[in-house]
Amino acid sequence: MKHVIIGNSTAAVGCVEGIRRVNRTDDIVLIADESHHTYARPLISYLLAGKTDKERMKYRKDDFYEVNGVTSLLGKTAVSIDPAKNTVTLDSGEAVGYDNLLVATGASPVFFPAEGLAQVKPAHTFTTLDDADALLKCVRESTRVLIVGAGLIGLKCAEGLRARTTHVAVVDLAPIVLSSMLKPAPAEIMQAHLEQNGVELHLGTSVKAFRPDEARHGAYFAELQNGESLGFDVLVYAAGVRANIQLVKDAGGACGRGITVDAFGQTSLPQVYAAGDCTESTDVCTGQRKVMALLPNAYMQGEAAGMHMAAAGAPLPCQPLGLIPENAIGFFGKHILSAGVYFEDGADGIYEDFDGGSYRCFYYDKTAQRLRGYILMDCPQRAGIYTALIRNGTQLPEEQFLQLRREPGLIAFPSQARIDILRKKEVAQ
Ligand SMILES: Cc1cc2nc3c(=O)[nH]c(=O)nc-3n(C[C@H](O)[C@H](O)[C@H](O)COP(=O)(O)OP(=O)(O)OC[C@H]3O[C@@H](n4cnc5c(N)ncnc54)[C@H](O)[C@@H]3O)c2cc1C
Repeated sequence: MKHVIIGNSTAAVGCVEGIRRVNRTDDIVLIADESHHTYARPLISYLLAGKTDKERMKYRKDDFYEVNGVTSLLGKTAVSIDPAKNTVTLDSGEAVGYDNLLVATGASPVFFPAEGLAQVKPAHTFTTLDDADALLKCVRESTRVLIVGAGLIGLKCAEGLRARTTHVAVVDLAPIVLSSMLKPAPAEIMQAHLEQNGVELHLGTSVKAFRPDEARHGAYFAELQNGESLGFDVLVYAAGVRANIQLVKDAGGACGRGITVDAFGQTSLPQVYAAGDCTESTDVCTGQRKVMALLPNAYMQGEAAGMHMAAAGAPLPCQPLGLIPENAIGFFGKHILSAGVYFEDGADGIYEDFDGGSYRCFYYDKTAQRLRGYILMDCPQRAGIYTALIRNGTQLPEEQFLQLRREPGLIAFPSQARIDILRKKEVAQ
């Protein structure tokens, strides 16, 4: 059997390791347009900050491809898939045949049109090691950086760049930072923290137009919708990413906002799987299909797809995945963990606790008697237990939820749930 993987990041590595858990001898060919050894993408902001280097950013050891018998075709772009002939065509024109294919192409930054944007040269993005390298080359202590987007990527970029320059401004149309992840109260805490650390925030507004600063070569102004004008030397666009679905879509595969996959990563095309940020799968917490673009999900999806591909129809060596949105992120030493859903504002069952700079929010669904989601800011204790309750849809009577909220621990669980969790731990060890 020959397994071909497009991508060289989290989902692709998960797939290689998934295949090798089942089979040591099948051929694996990996194709990636980036020419670097596999690296941990979230660490690019730490590279900017000087807290890590390229050696320590490697996601797997130097001999990863060799040890796993992987033929790596790095620096090559896959331009099309032919599902009738089972081939992938590269930009060089070469066709690579497959028995099974994994598409793990991730997501790419999106540019929203703004007047004058084409004149800003270059407009940087911040999702790859090459992006970080480009910023390292042009940002000095006196460089004024403007970042469009106060989501995870924009703020990680702001944190990294603050170690290099004192002038970092962030603009976002949303009235709060991390608007897809946080509710207003914790967002306010985070905003104050970012400002204390020297990040200038302009929220609830957007860039109307860019224009060159006639008095300073290579400098520009951003005219904001709220009437303000911000001078800058370097622009970073971090206003969102879009799943790279085109290869599968052009080949006739089903896609929504991401490539449509089942719980094992199978797409609608025979022998074609997909995993990671390019996919749309079922959130077991809500039953809705969505793109859950997060590193742990990408690895788990890649690994499950890899095992499925190598099993070649034999009984599956793994359970269907139970994916939920989860996140672990920190800025300037302030950390947030979140999982599940918690946006039902005004819904019965939203519990928020503030304690100094720390914050907890739980969404307990009283009708279904289940924990649906949480946000923990600077209080990570027992997050794993909460996540397991959400992922497994464990029934949790209200008194037990309230006890769990007071004193996180296994004792708060119904006895059967305690046994199940301990059993799962045993299996995992
Ligand atoms: C700055 C930053 C911080 C982040 N922080 C966090 C965090 O704290 N927590 C978290 O959970 N997640 C975080 N993420 C998200 C996390 O990095 C992604 O969820 C994860 O990398 C997804 O892995 P993936 O393998 O699906 O895709 P990607 O990592 O995007 O990799 C896609 C791969 O596909 C290749 N590729 C794409 N198209 C082609 C083509 N046509 N031909 C050949 N190769 C192609 C690329 O070269 C790349 O190797 C962060 C991301 C960024 C950018």
